[in-house]
Amino acid sequence: MPFRAPLSDLRFLLDHVVDFAQVSGTDRFADATPETVDAVLGEAGRLASEVIAPVNRAGDKVPARLENGIVRTSPGFAEAYAAMAEGGWVAIAAGTAHGGMGLPLTLASAVNDMFSGACLALQLNPLLTQGQIEALEHHADDRLKALYLPKLISGEWGGTMNLTEPQAGSDVGALRSKAEPNEDGSYAITGQKIYITWGDTDFQANTVHLVLARLPDGAPGTAGISLFLVPKFLPDAAGKPGLRNSLHVVSLEHKLGIHGSPTCVMQFDGAKGWLVGAPHKGMAAMFTMMNNARLGVGLQGVGVAEAAYQQAYDYAMTRQQGRTADPGSPTIIGHADVRRMLATMKAQVFSARAICLSCAVAIDMGTATDDPAWKARAAFLTPIAKAYGTDVGVAVASDGVQIHGGMGFIEETGAAQFLRDVRITPIYEGTNGIQAMDLVARKMMDNGEAAFRLLREIEMGAAAARTGLPDLAEDVWQAGETLREATEALLTQDMTDRFAGAVPYLRAFALVLGGHFHLKAALAEGANGPRSALARVAIRRLMPDHLGLLAQMRLGAGDLFALSAEDLAA
Ligand SMILES: Cc1cc2nc3c(=O)[nH]c(=O)nc-3n(C[C@H](O)[C@H](O)[C@H](O)COP(=O)(O)OP(=O)(O)OC[C@H]3O[C@@H](n4cnc5c(N)ncnc54)[C@H](O)[C@@H]3O)c2cc1C
Repeated sequence: MPFRAPLSDLRFLLDHVVDFAQVSGTDRFADATPETVDAVLGEAGRLASEVIAPVNRAGDKVPARLENGIVRTSPGFAEAYAAMAEGGWVAIAAGTAHGGMGLPLTLASAVNDMFSGACLALQLNPLLTQGQIEALEHHADDRLKALYLPKLISGEWGGTMNLTEPQAGSDVGALRSKAEPNEDGSYAITGQKIYITWGDTDFQANTVHLVLARLPDGAPGTAGISLFLVPKFLPDAAGKPGLRNSLHVVSLEHKLGIHGSPTCVMQFDGAKGWLVGAPHKGMAAMFTMMNNARLGVGLQGVGVAEAAYQQAYDYAMTRQQGRTADPGSPTIIGHADVRRMLATMKAQVFSARAICLSCAVAIDMGTATDDPAWKARAAFLTPIAKAYGTDVGVAVASDGVQIHGGMGFIEETGAAQFLRDVRITPIYEGTNGIQAMDLVARKMMDNGEAAFRLLREIEMGAAAARTGLPDLAEDVWQAGETLREATEALLTQDMTDRFAGAVPYLRAFALVLGGHFHLKAALAEGANGPRSALARVAIRRLMPDHLGLLAQMRLGAGDLFALSAEDLAA
């Protein structure tokens, strides 16, 4: 069966779990009425299922290719992208000042979730444009905004993000690209960038690169980096693509997955660019783009997990093998182990989606109210949303292959494509290890205040569920307490110990948050409904892993460094 947009879960989460009503209750987002939400979700869902999902297989089988220096995209991508752009879907959260709809990021996130599930390789294109729009809205001068934002928002032009260089991956501060001032106030950008997603296309009239480079007086490390806007074609007096800039695609990478997304090596040879934000403050400006993209990448994990789950479910409903334990289910869904995998996958998708949407709600509330507490929550949830969303993407896609048995390993079912495609998501936009380090270091610089606020909310949620769902409420309350104690212990650790436990800590936090959101959903629906049954799976089967993870976190780094690099020799 084809991809079905997960409209009922999205609506339920917005209405009953992540309190979207708070967002639409603000003056800033008063236009996001229930009617608007319904219209946005319904229409985006239709586009995802009927227009975008049908090109997903072609993107895998016929990768983007470089022909005489021009990127040729996979069959059907241009048409599917045109439908997205014509429908105004590229950047629905962009501000109204330059032609955007100014809708909440939460709604844009729901759309990104559905589009990612439909075709991850293609959805990467608007995702990066969205991040670029946000960076320009916040940091560019009025001239750049007026010239570029309308074209990016309409989707006529696309945006990219150029950080990575061969010697500068996670350590962006090691970059060598240079920017020399020109006499006319622009800059000449020189250097090579690698892994640039959608570095060129044959379906957008211009590609606008945001490039990190160092000015001649830029200090070494991240403190000396500036951000530049460097278009493929220099806009002419009428703002139309004019002269070709001195940059080109050197080659495309051959990859494990997302074959339809051209991953480019980009060469800049004195290319003309303009400064975005203040000199040497490029990292702060780029972080606007990266934070937006981090939540977006978390949702990519969720979207692909949804698609992989749907396909595994369909297969389990048709494949007959052996006598099942459930007389009503003669296919493999009647086997306890297959039922376990499906229930676990569904519970994980729900948890990860709830975490990502609650992060989006916090971002919207921060925008609408300027309240530092909302901003701190958004900052705290972003690495969790990115890392947990993408880990769930990989885990669910892998179980999806497993449910197909041998057919999962055979490419024609498409189950393997989900796993290959989603495998990049824990790596790009800052690896999940880097996300976890961000959580336990930078995001704890408030002495854990944002963490403790969330933990209070988890406890209050558990207290509210005590009458309706006493056993599950008790489990979530206890888990919240354990996590609070672990957080207090983490704050006493030195950085090496914290970093050794960062990934287990992040995951434990996500599992407990997931339990909390499932409990809320079960309570809203009423005991004995399917959401309560799913909450039981999440709380009783998934959440208990937090105990082992937090025990690992408390170990610190001592046992790891007791093994020397030589001891670890292969
Ligand atoms: C398909 C694809 C698309 C991409 N798209 C873009 C793009 O559009 N724009 C762009 O600029 N980049 C892009 N990237 C680059 C991507 O963001 C980097 O690959 C990623 O940030 C990791 O950098 P790296 O590959 O150099 O790995 P490394 O930084 O070398 O990391 C290797 C390993 O070491 C770990 N590690 C590194 N430093 C630390 C540390 N300080 N502490 C603990 N662990 C550490 C990492 O977690 C990882 O496990 C893309 C990459 C791919 C593969």
